[in-house]
Amino acid sequence: MVGSAGSAGRGRPGPGPDAVELTERVADFVRSRVVPLESVLDSGGTAGRAAMRSLRARAMDEGLWALPLPAEFGGQGLALPRYLQLAEAEGASDHGPAALGSAPLLDVLMLRRHGRTRIRDQYLERLVAGELRACYAMTEPDAPGTDPSMTSTRAVRESDGSWTVSGRKWFTSRAADADLVTVLARTDAAPPDRAGLSLLLVPTDSPGFRVVRELPVLGAGGQWEIALDHVTVPGDHLIGERGRALAIAGERLQLGRTLRCLRWLGQAQRAFDLMCERANTRSGSRGPLSGHQLVQQHVFESLLAVRSTRPLVHEAAARIGAGLDAHIEVGLAKVAAARMLQQVSDAAIQVHGAAGLGPDTPLPALFRTGRAARILDGPDELHITSVARRVLRSP
Ligand SMILES: Cc1cc2nc3c(=O)[nH]c(=O)nc-3n(C[C@H](O)[C@H](O)[C@H](O)COP(=O)(O)OP(=O)(O)OC[C@H]3O[C@@H](n4cnc5c(N)ncnc54)[C@H](O)[C@@H]3O)c2cc1C
Repeated sequence: MVGSAGSAGRGRPGPGPDAVELTERVADFVRSRVVPLESVLDSGGTAGRAAMRSLRARAMDEGLWALPLPAEFGGQGLALPRYLQLAEAEGASDHGPAALGSAPLLDVLMLRRHGRTRIRDQYLERLVAGELRACYAMTEPDAPGTDPSMTSTRAVRESDGSWTVSGRKWFTSRAADADLVTVLARTDAAPPDRAGLSLLLVPTDSPGFRVVRELPVLGAGGQWEIALDHVTVPGDHLIGERGRALAIAGERLQLGRTLRCLRWLGQAQRAFDLMCERANTRSGSRGPLSGHQLVQQHVFESLLAVRSTRPLVHEAAARIGAGLDAHIEVGLAKVAAARMLQQVSDAAIQVHGAAGLGPDTPLPALFRTGRAARILDGPDELHITSVARRVLRSP
């Protein structure tokens, strides 16, 4: 019964046979290797890091490591459209991309395209091999993340060509474990000027770089506040041209949002499958929960949410994969996918009763991801107004 519920949730035309086989191998790896270790991975620390190391070694042994990363730096060079077909299976667990070596994709693509020669030589192979970890710091405590023109972190060009960076960032995912952080900083002019913003790559062992505190999100770790107190980096650590930060950030955000949407689909499908299984197997004196019409409504509404979101996400992925402008498609997909994960995980919790809030299912983590999804990478409101303005062609 669960199988049929799951296939009901999927319902979309499939990719070709090779892609199906690879997607199946990735799905199986996530289901049988990553999911059983989720709680230890979630808890982080020494045990979490050891579990992640063992998963990475296994992914390498099984030939599944770094599938979409460029072959010139040691990845498997899977074309982006094909990777987008399997990103849902890989992202069914939040830990899938890190375990399979796809997590640095956005940083590697950005540095390959916009990094200077020494940066590419020094870091790219090691990022792809999983020896170095990168994170991305744009949001600041004292400026709205929805309006990067207000960025107050500053980078000053020194007479020897180096840059001195000062400021504070927060909700920087994975910052405490990172070796490199891409920092959005003001190199020219004053807020709200947008053309004075640049991106700099900062090694986290630079003097003056500091992790200030962890910022648990609904009780879960992984987000950090960081401080940069007169951190000096060489001149060639400027990413792309001076003043081009928002154009470069826009490139990575479009792909990044699409990947997140695909992963949220995979996670919503898990919540949906768990809900159906619970409805079919939990029985009272009047029979299984699945016999109650109000439980059936949770199943219907969730299926509707998954099925109506999936084509939107795949439309955005197809345009991104083809290198086309996808502002409207990504905006629609981002809002729909975040709402869907929140709605489906909430319904699955409801059908589980107290067990849905406890430690024995991934539902609390899926719900947390769904709630945060409506804020990170731009809150719903930002995408709604941005899509509507483009449709209406208003300023
Ligand atoms: C789990 C998680 C991980 C994150 N990871 C990272 C990361 O790795 N790197 C990073 O730089 N940042 C990261 N962030 C930060 C995230 O990108 C920002 O929180 C987000 O962009 C919103 O910025 P803000 O929090 O400053 O909200 P604000 O800009 O202060 O906005 C607050 C609220 O105001 C309203 N609002 C804002 N603008 C508009 C508008 N135009 N129209 C109508 N209403 C509006 C919305 O309700 C919005 O939620 C992460 C956040 C979370 C929760």
